[in-house]
Amino acid sequence: MQEMTHRHTKELDIFYREHREACTNCRKKFHDGMCAHVGYVRGNNPAVLCDDCAGEMIETVVRYHWTAQEYESPNGNSSLWRYIDLAKFIQLIASKTLFFAPADSFDDPFEGAKGIVSRKGKWDDFYIDFFRKAIATVPEVDAKNLTKDEIEVNAKRLLSELNMSGEYDRKHTFISCWHENEFESEAMWKLYSANYRNAVAVKTTAANLYEALGKDPRIDIGKVKYIDFNKRFSSINGAYWYKRKSFEYEREVRAVMKIYSSDSNANSVPVDIEKLINQVYISPYAPLWFEEVVTSVMLRYDVNKPVFHSTMNDQPFY
Ligand SMILES: [Zn+2]
Repeated sequence: MQEMTHRHTKELDIFYREHREACTNCRKKFHDGMCAHVGYVRGNNPAVLCDDCAGEMIETVVRYHWTAQEYESPNGNSSLWRYIDLAKFIQLIASKTLFFAPADSFDDPFEGAKGIVSRKGKWDDFYIDFFRKAIATVPEVDAKNLTKDEIEVNAKRLLSELNMSGEYDRKHTFISCWHENEFESEAMWKLYSANYRNAVAVKTTAANLYEALGKDPRIDIGKVKYIDFNKRFSSINGAYWYKRKSFEYEREVRAVMKIYSSDSNANSVPVDIEKLINQVYISPYAPLWFEEVVTSVMLRYDVNKPVFHSTMNDQPFY
């Protein structure tokens, strides 16, 4: 088998993200447990190949034990809204960066949660059993030489490391939240205007968000799933794609990235404002002078995009 070169390029990482579902050569769909060979074929073209086609690879950069993506990608055309107060809007267009908030800074304590505390025993039982079996069957270890006690000690250690990694992850996972909707949302305006009467909503599409962030392969954009934590756990590798049912009205699409560097600005990601912003909407609760402020700020930073009044204040007739 070809030696892996690990010569990752942004181009290849983007190619894998966009073509990971099926073999580039024979179009066979990947499923859990298959091996995906990622690299370059003849003509220096990037490819994701199945085992049967792997012989076509000129350079194997990496092989993945293929698993299905943890999240559902939004449709590229679907509209995404970000309801923000004026200060955050100015920060966005002046710095041309999108701020990703650390998961442990959110009001919702279930950000990154695997489950609820009352069901933790069930989770622990499952994983300790999983680790016992894994230790006893690791090919490099001669399991016959391990005593039951040794297996138990090691399984407990792995479980405690797993639990600690959950806490650690909350500090190193950064999120930008968006609301998926073809229309304005009264609930979202209320949510923001309760604190900030001077709010705007930036409207984009999922494809534009992805492109505005430079198709950054570190960033995943997906739909949040709303689940009943009394009945199930979230996911060991994808906890940030799950929230409680009570948040269903948010219809959230989020951009998620992990940062392990100590650079304190790493969570402000350069963004192409021209690509990102399709339209700007003014809060229906904003005072009259507010629109002028918003348009002059946009002018100041060369953001030539249409500004709309919220249609919430349209007058009915009876
Ligand atoms: Zn194939």
